[in-house]
Amino acid sequence: MALMITDECINCDVCEPECPNEAISLGPEIYQIDPGRCTECVGHFDEPQCVQVCPVACIPVNPAHVESRESLWRKYQRLTGKPETGVPAPDSETARP
Ligand code: SF4
Ligand code: SF4
Repeated sequence: MALMITDECINCDVCEPECPNEAISLGPEIYQIDPGRCTECVGHFDEPQCVQVCPVACIPVNPAHVESRESLWRKYQRLTGKPETGVPAPDSETARP
């Protein structure tokens, strides 16, 4: 699933530079996440980086963009153009560090 930012966002600017996919940008009022670019940090990190740094915990999963881990992995490959990264294959939770 892509994540989304709710209207509890206080525009603190902390999450935007942390996103490895440049999926976060300032919208008309608050920050927003492009679901076409958010991989839940799959391919880059074990945990969503924006969620880790957000001081008000306003970044839940986006129910309109439910995706499997494999789908997120393919999105990562599409975005980076670098399928061979040495990162464990999708849907192999036991292989993850
Ligand atoms: S979960 Fe990762 S890829 Fe998605 S918006 Fe947050 S930092 Fe960016
Ligand atoms: S870290 Fe949280 S509060 Fe700060 S801009 Fe991002 S979503 Fe908004």
